[in-house]
Amino acid sequence: MGDSPDIYLVFTDLDGTLLDHYSYSFKPARPLLHHLQRKGIPVIPVSSKTRAELEPLMLQLGEAGPFIVENGAAVCIPEGYFARQPDNTRTIDGCWVRALAEPRGHWTALLESLVAEFPGAFATFSQMGTRGIAAATGLDPEQAERANRREFSEPVRWLGDEGERALFIARLEESGARVQAGGRFLAVSGTLDKGEAVNWLCAQYAQRGRVAATVALGDSDNDIPMLEAADTAVLVRSPERDYPAVARSAGVIYTHGSGPVGWAEGISRWLRAQGLKD
Ligand SMILES: [Mg+2]
Repeated sequence: MGDSPDIYLVFTDLDGTLLDHYSYSFKPARPLLHHLQRKGIPVIPVSSKTRAELEPLMLQLGEAGPFIVENGAAVCIPEGYFARQPDNTRTIDGCWVRALAEPRGHWTALLESLVAEFPGAFATFSQMGTRGIAAATGLDPEQAERANRREFSEPVRWLGDEGERALFIARLEESGARVQAGGRFLAVSGTLDKGEAVNWLCAQYAQRGRVAATVALGDSDNDIPMLEAADTAVLVRSPERDYPAVARSAGVIYTHGSGPVGWAEGISRWLRAQGLKD
């Protein structure tokens, strides 16, 4: 043990996991969030959201530690969170940022190069602007503006037919993009996933103490790389689809409740297994 304390880490998806699928409330998770905070265990969001969307949410959650944005495209660590700035990070507006994907401009340029082949078949967030994003997503103008402050990826709304959509995705992938389908939008970014960002951040903690246990919680297939990267995977029931199809069978917790109810159930079971529940 020595003087370096054991480190426990919680990585969590947001929509449909810590946040209710419909209301975006995390109220049922609050008592356990407070419990984790008292124990000094960080809750690290891993989300498709942007830094501009996540910062206000971190305040609401009462969390002051790192978070992972744009589906694993970058890790943001508040400046001074660790005693020393991690290698390969840049200080941007009070955060040490580890970028794992090319900047947004790379992806918008790639998309522009496909306009001639797929005329009128897609609209990017950049083209849609705040008003268009608000209309397409139901976000209010301020939320739409935050969603549009992307740094490492570009969401695309597909307007063409299904057959052409597969060809469009293939073209993007040929050019080194990774395309993740989520609802009405395709997220275009680098060949990365939530798992790489989680592994990088775990390695930063491991330089500062013994990482005793990690847990990841998610409700959909884009969470699988993150769920495979942690010691324990909590698969949160979704009201809309099956549990994420993880390959692992050991160290898996399936929740009965969905959203933050399932989140609390999973964290509770994980804490008990670690001997950390009062
Ligand atoms: Mg989700």
